[in-house]
Amino acid sequence: MSTKYVYLFSEGNAKMRELLGGKGANLAEMTNIGLPVPQGFTITTEACTRYYDDGRKIADDIMDEAMSYVAKIEEINGKKFGDLENPLLVSVRSGARASMPGMMDTILNLGLNEDVVAAMIKGNPDPKFERFVYDSYRRFIQMYSDVVMGVGKKYFEQLIDKMKEEKGVVYDVDLTAADLKELAEQFKAEYKNQLGEDFPSDPIVQLKGAIEAVFRSWDNPRANVYRRDNDIPYSWGTAVSVMPMVFGNLNENSGTGVAFTRDPATGEKKLMGEFLTNAQGEDVVAGVRTPMPISQMEEKFPEAFAEFVKVCGILEDHYRDMQDMEFTVENGKLYMLQCRNGKRTAQAALKIACDLVDEGMIDEKQAVLMIDPRNLDTLLHPQFDDKALKATTPLGKGLGASPGAACGKIVFTAEDAKAWAAKKEKVVLVRLETSPEDIEGMKAAQGILTVRGGMTSHAAVVARGMGSCCVSGCGDIKMDEENKKFELGGKEFHEGDYISIDGSTGNIYDGIIPTVDAKIAGEFGRIMSWADQFRRLKVRTNADTPHDAAKAVELGAEGIGLTRTEHMFFNSDRIAAFREMICSDTVEERVAALAKLEPMQQADFEGIYEAMEGRPVTIRFLDPPLHEFVPTDEADIAELAKTQGKTVQQIKDIISSLHEFNPMMGHRGCRLAVTYPEIAEMQTRAVIKAALAVSERHPDWTMVPEIMIPLTGEVKELKYVKDVVVKVADEIIAASGKELKYLVGTMIEIPRAALTADEMATEAEFFSFGTNDLTQMTFGFSRDDAGKFLGSYYDTKIYENDPFAKVDQKGVGKLVDMACKLGRSTRPELHLGVCGEHGGDPSSVEFFHKTGLDYVSCSPFRVPIARLAAAQAALKD
Ligand code: PEP
Ligand code: MG
Repeated sequence: MSTKYVYLFSEGNAKMRELLGGKGANLAEMTNIGLPVPQGFTITTEACTRYYDDGRKIADDIMDEAMSYVAKIEEINGKKFGDLENPLLVSVRSGARASMPGMMDTILNLGLNEDVVAAMIKGNPDPKFERFVYDSYRRFIQMYSDVVMGVGKKYFEQLIDKMKEEKGVVYDVDLTAADLKELAEQFKAEYKNQLGEDFPSDPIVQLKGAIEAVFRSWDNPRANVYRRDNDIPYSWGTAVSVMPMVFGNLNENSGTGVAFTRDPATGEKKLMGEFLTNAQGEDVVAGVRTPMPISQMEEKFPEAFAEFVKVCGILEDHYRDMQDMEFTVENGKLYMLQCRNGKRTAQAALKIACDLVDEGMIDEKQAVLMIDPRNLDTLLHPQFDDKALKATTPLGKGLGASPGAACGKIVFTAEDAKAWAAKKEKVVLVRLETSPEDIEGMKAAQGILTVRGGMTSHAAVVARGMGSCCVSGCGDIKMDEENKKFELGGKEFHEGDYISIDGSTGNIYDGIIPTVDAKIAGEFGRIMSWADQFRRLKVRTNADTPHDAAKAVELGAEGIGLTRTEHMFFNSDRIAAFREMICSDTVEERVAALAKLEPMQQADFEGIYEAMEGRPVTIRFLDPPLHEFVPTDEADIAELAKTQGKTVQQIKDIISSLHEFNPMMGHRGCRLAVTYPEIAEMQTRAVIKAALAVSERHPDWTMVPEIMIPLTGEVKELKYVKDVVVKVADEIIAASGKELKYLVGTMIEIPRAALTADEMATEAEFFSFGTNDLTQMTFGFSRDDAGKFLGSYYDTKIYENDPFAKVDQKGVGKLVDMACKLGRSTRPELHLGVCGEHGGDPSSVEFFHKTGLDYVSCSPFRVPIARLAAAQAALKD
């Protein structure tokens, strides 16, 4: 049987989202449960995939099938394309499996042409109707030209501005039917001027163009960025829903709105949304006019509102989740155009999940599964210090569209936000309104402040999705984007001035407001405690200081999976001693330098053990890529020469002898200990003495230090270093007269170590996968330089994600899996963990769960993310 590429809404259901996209599947489901949905059809995501497979061409069989469905919906709706009595007008909408708000294209009012327009007007002599028809027509020409044919919006906007100026009016709504008719003519002339051909008048030609444009928009730059950020595979494709238009811009008895069944910012159970009378959907989401709150809809449209409230209840009960809905009222009658599980802030996600459990709508497992772990990040970000806030008066207020505290220098364009952030500047992006093209700048900014737009404006939706702080719709700002300045609260702000914005309250402050760390309490704590019941993977942290270790424990870390001991020497008061060690040219010199380092190390280890209160601690021996540590500054070199009793030239000679062409593959990791065993000896003394001292102070704690040897690739190399460790450790323990158990293990971060893991396990008592280096060496991509060329790999879809952020399951993952099996074949009780950056990435955590690791280890602020991701992995298993 040949593949079916097109479905009527009445042929689908909510379970078919892979095929029909979220929008198509939910339109079908709403149809099935008897809600008022204009009846259309959906072209499947498989058709989109074929479009790309066929070299960006819609195959004739697919287009023919789609056109046969046009006849079906004409019949169902009693309207016909191009008909002069009863013309069918449609919207053509994108919709992927996962929602990607605003990232792809939509075309409204399709089917209009001169004849249809004339016939419609003839059939209804009301002058307001005439205005409506021309308004729809000019909108359609504008949208079609932009989306389907790539004629920039700006040409049409200029024409509108010119017309408003000529007519002496400020708003679009003040343009008359005659003005709009004239505009439509001007638009078509502009189209011909730009493209050298007439604007298509045949509705079928228009429809074919629109369908293809939606498929094409799957691959537009903003969709690509959005997909990468949200782990949405390129291979999924988008579906296209073709749906009869209902007109919110018909008259004053019509309107359009967007609403949520619960507050997407706080999670509070109350209908939240916005409504615009005499408008089309795009006007609400684009943030062009600031809409009225949904509660005011009740006064104007009591019946449609009552019906809508009923629909909200039905949909929440049906989907058992907060719903985000688009609807239109045409002549007082309600139509549902879309529903989906609403995007929400992390804070709202937690509250909604807990409330749904308390309302008996879902169980705890479902609650844990419905939170996106990546979203938790925002909750872990600093908030404004309460005291500092109280002592300050806000300069102005917008809508608290996405919570968090942002403080930074003002920039006015997305490009500047990106450029300044690349220079490590914290910026707040201030815009009249944002458009989807701004996504990269929004990502780079600490926060986003917009003059226009409501809670559902693009800026608000996208910011919430990214977990960025956003204040939208601050109409008090007098913006002068062109000259990069604005006025608020009697003050003029320029590019580079500091501003602080509070995404929860919508308050805007002059200057810098101090922030404080976030806490896990309330609903956050509840969800995390449920998550902990369901997960199998343990979650440790990567911490190099007692402060970080304590923070991680507060966030739920169950141990330390990686202490990078070289990081303990970055501070200016310590780096000198470390450089002495590196730049020694005799064993005696090195031993003397190490003697200075030893007490520092021991004190650090004691601090870390204390912070961890008896939880397991893995200490990794020195792994300093030398280029990160040798002095480059003349003053530092002179200083080092002085302490070493050498000339500046001698130090410079040593430094140049240390130069490596490829420091990441150079004299680092265990290679250092092989060359200079005295380094491993010093570190062993510090680890063991610290453990003995702390267990004396806290006899109730189980102290089993885990010594981890980095960058091994051969078992003899591991054994060589391990022998040094064991000899020194055993001597100290024996001399202390106490008992202390310790483990010696290795990182698996060189492909050869993974390939020979059965041999490595004869010596190693545990493995920890260093997936940063393992990725670097498996791909042959430098960790430090890959960013320079990975962009081209994303553009060409050779890779869809940064393999340093999300583990490459096919290649690197295969090595991890193989090493686990080989290692356990030698030593069945072998303890396995991962301490590369991937330990805090949800999709990677799921992979590590499936691979059978015992724990993941990640930076302190990602610990809750890993806990939740581990629980979800176990629940999905
Ligand atoms: C790793 O390589 O994954 C790792 C954790 O070690 P580092 O990042 O310190 O090289
Ligand atoms: Mg490493």
